[in-house]
Amino acid sequence: MIVVMRRDAKEEDIQHMVQQVESLGLKPTVLRGTERTVIAAIGDERAAASVGVLESGPGVDEVLPVLAPYKLASLETKSEKTVVRAGSLTVGNGQLGIIAGPCSVESEEQIIGTARAIKKYGATGLRGGAFKPRTSPYSFQGMKEAGLKLLAAARAETGLAVVTEVVSAEDIDLVAEYADVLQIGARNMQNYRLLEAVGRSKRPVLLKRGPSATVDELLLAAEYILDAGNQQVILCERGIRTFEAHTRFTLPLATVPYLQSKTHLPVIVDPSHGTGHTPLVPAMARAAIAAGADGLIIEVHPNPEKALSDGYQSLTFDQFAEMMRGCLKIAQAMGVRI
Ligand code: PEP
Ligand code: MN
Repeated sequence: MIVVMRRDAKEEDIQHMVQQVESLGLKPTVLRGTERTVIAAIGDERAAASVGVLESGPGVDEVLPVLAPYKLASLETKSEKTVVRAGSLTVGNGQLGIIAGPCSVESEEQIIGTARAIKKYGATGLRGGAFKPRTSPYSFQGMKEAGLKLLAAARAETGLAVVTEVVSAEDIDLVAEYADVLQIGARNMQNYRLLEAVGRSKRPVLLKRGPSATVDELLLAAEYILDAGNQQVILCERGIRTFEAHTRFTLPLATVPYLQSKTHLPVIVDPSHGTGHTPLVPAMARAAIAAGADGLIIEVHPNPEKALSDGYQSLTFDQFAEMMRGCLKIAQAMGVRI
């Protein structure tokens, strides 16, 4: 990293900072300019966690990190793109993963009927929450283990890989018994003990961006999972909170090419939560593929009006079929497979 000294820094401040850099295990090189002095600190600055220490030093103006704060998730560490595979679902390297299904598992008829329909129109994974993280404790909290059993029945019927959320570390073993991919929801993106715990599990993880998390924070959350030993991580942009009120969240699709340039992990987009409005979902799904996403996660319900959660952003089977026709054209134009 680069330690920029103030114009009025004294020689003793510079010498002090040289020692501080050395004490962090980094190699200092002093560069004296006509206006001010900078100290280049060479070495793995992430291991030292040292920006804060150096910033508070005497005569220091600012400290500029050179390396990204994440390491295992970085494209610099692994230049080959990661492909995540779970049963019928493949995400990455030119293969789009299309995960669809209801927000919540509600009944056998609902989940099996949805699984059959989405498979027919080209989905490769089945979503459905059995443990639901709801904003209100009075809202439907999910069918829990009974819901997991219905997801497994839908997989037996259709062959679709099951993607479902785990909200607490104590539920991981149970959820992993039934699920092919463990979803970490937006609210839990910074639940670091939960991230470590799914990192120790053998199941691939779908990690959603927190609505107020930066992209670096998303990558550092992925870093926890990778560091715990699980390399099968899919990142998901699902919209962030802004001052804008015409959509439930603001869906920043620039995240997709940005992440593709920084990480080897596959990146998918959730236009359902990202917009919160059924009519906006198909266009944003197409836009996500055009932006270079490796897949989509879409809420689909046999009768959105009757859904126990997120009906206002769910597609009917016919709307999903229509969305897939549009996505196929974009995928062909982009040279990627659905
Ligand atoms: C969901 O996928 O239904 C969900 C709760 O999403 P998020 O965590 O992105 O809000
Ligand atoms: Mn939902």
